[in-house]
This record gives sequence, structure tokens and C-alpha cells, in this order.
Amino acid sequence: MAAIQINNVEKSYRALKALNGISLSIEEGEFFGLLGPNGAGKTTLISIIAGLNRADSGTVEVHGHDVVSDYRQARKLLGVVPQELVFDPFFTVRETLRMQSGYYGLKNNDPWIDEVMHHLDLTGKADANMRALSGGMKRRVLVAQALVHKPPVIVLDEPTAGVDVELRQTLWKFISRLNREGHTIVLTTHYLEEAQALCNRVAMLKAGQVVALDSTSALIKRISGSQLVVQLA
Ligand code: ATP
Repeated sequence: MAAIQINNVEKSYRALKALNGISLSIEEGEFFGLLGPNGAGKTTLISIIAGLNRADSGTVEVHGHDVVSDYRQARKLLGVVPQELVFDPFFTVRETLRMQSGYYGLKNNDPWIDEVMHHLDLTGKADANMRALSGGMKRRVLVAQALVHKPPVIVLDEPTAGVDVELRQTLWKFISRLNREGHTIVLTTHYLEEAQALCNRVAMLKAGQVVALDSTSALIKRISGSQLVVQLA
């Protein structure tokens, strides 16, 4: 069974066709990249997978659970790192993560919370208020929040957009480790080198359609010297 099965998904915003018949099958244990220029439809697709947005037609299943009709079960299996930084500013980092783990019925002293903070270099900030954190630190908390319930499928929407090299390395290392441990990872990115360093397979979206789907190495070979490079810019 696929980790994420996307069948002919369409989504329009008024006259704009943001997704125009997307079908993809992402296997368990894959590190899958979604590439594409601004406006290609990556975030729209992620939000539909996460159950935060409804497709006009087509279906998405996570480990066989439909994200609309079986939302609760599908959502438990997913950890989603969105693009926007939305937090309660008066909570500390630890409180933010404990609250998130509470949503999933986990104990708030689960040692995994400390482990996640450790791997994301957040331990020193555990008792800091969210409002006092830098943008990069908030982004680490956003990633930690998605992981507290140990979801088998982790979806990250441009987690390294606008972050410094150190944080990019920290995130890459931790996400790669989770993938080696068996988690399925789906990552959207504008950076070809990021896809090259991390992903086994990539889909390139353009104007709401999959225009290329291949192993990362094969796609990069095709890109060299072709107009696909322009599509990524
Ligand atoms: P980026 O790389 O810039 O984040 P993206 O590939 O994630 O882009 P989306 O954010 O999914 O692309 O947007 C796809 C298209 O849908 C764009 O033309 C965008 O303007 C439009 N769009 C997205 N959300 C909405 C919305 N809520 N209302 C109207 N149009 C929207």
C-alpha cells in the first residue's frame, strides 16, 4: 500500500486552476520531493493532503485512509510542517510541544519531546516564550511540532525557505535520519540541490500538473541543459 496515494486531484480558486489532475503514488519509506516554480500548486497539494483544503475532485489517501472521509485516522499518520509560522506567542517552546502531543493523546512528559528538541537544537530554548524566538528558531519549533506524535509520514512545505545554512544542515540531518528509520518524507522545495541531496524521487509541478516524475538522479540528468531548469527558477 502507498504511503500517500493521490488520484486525479483538481482544485480551482475561482477561474484559476491551481491543480489540474494530479496523480501520484508515494511509497512507504520514500524521500519524495515536490519541485516547481512559484504558483505551481505545491502548497495547495500539501494542504489537500493535510486535510486543510478540499479538492474539487479526485481523492487522497494516507496509508489507505481517505483524507476527507477518514480524516482523523489519516491525520494521525501525518506530520505536517506548514510554511507559515503560527503559534501562541505566550507559550514556551516546551508548552507548545506538550500541547501538540496532547492533541494526539500522548503523555506530556513523553521523552520523545526532549529528543526532538535535542535533535533540532532547541533544548536551550525549551523555556523561552515563542514570541521571543528568532524566525529560524520558530521554524525549528514548527518542525518539532509536526513530529511529536511520531507520524510515519512527514510532509514539509519549504522548511528551509529563508533559513541560514546552519539550520538547513540541522534540518537535513534530522529529516534524513527519520527517513533512514523508516518514515516517509515528502518535501517541497525550490532548491534543486536540496532535492539532489535528500530525495530518492521527485515530481516537478508546473501550472498544476506533474510535468516530470523520476528518480532524482535521472531527473537531474534530464535537467542539465534543458528548459526544465527555467521551470525551477
Ligand atoms: P510557492 O512556491 O510560491 O509557494 P506553490 O507551488 O506552493 O507556490 P500554491 O501556493 O499552491 O503554489 O498556488 C498555486 C496557485 O493558486 C497560485 O496561482 C496561487 O496564487 C493560487 N492560490 C493559492 N491559494 C489561493 C487562495 N486561497 N485563493 C486564491 N488563489 C490561491
